[in-house]
Amino acid sequence: MSSEIYDCENCGACCRCFPIFASEADAAREPAIRRETRKVEPHLATEHKAYQMHPLPFLQQCAFLKEDQLCRIYATRPAVCRRFEAGSDQCKEARARLGIK
Ligand code: SF4
Ligand code: SF4
Repeated sequence: MSSEIYDCENCGACCRCFPIFASEADAAREPAIRRETRKVEPHLATEHKAYQMHPLPFLQQCAFLKEDQLCRIYATRPAVCRRFEAGSDQCKEARARLGIK
C-alpha cells in the first residue's frame, strides 16, 4: 500500500508506542540524546541500544516529540527513526494502538 495516505505530521504514533533506543553514533550526531534520555546500563547496552529514548519516567512519548507531533531533532534523529517507514506494518500497528485511522 502507498505510504502517501499516512500523514506523519499529524500522527507521531510510532514515537509513543514502541520502545525506542539510540546508539552512541546517534548521540554523537545529536548531543541532546545524551542530555535528555537514559543511558542503558553497560551490561545491557548493545551497539544499537546505548540510550533509552522511550519509555522514560513521567513521559508518555519520546522526549523529543513536540506537542504538534513533530520531532524536535528531526534532522539529527536516531537511525532507527530514519528507518521507520510510514505505511509499514509497524506504522499501521502504532496507529491502530492509538486509534489513529
Ligand atoms: S506511525 Fe506511521 S504515520 Fe504515524 S508518524 Fe509514525 S511513520 Fe508516520
Ligand atoms: S527522536 Fe524524533 S522521530 Fe525518533 S522517536 Fe523521538 S520524536 Fe520520534
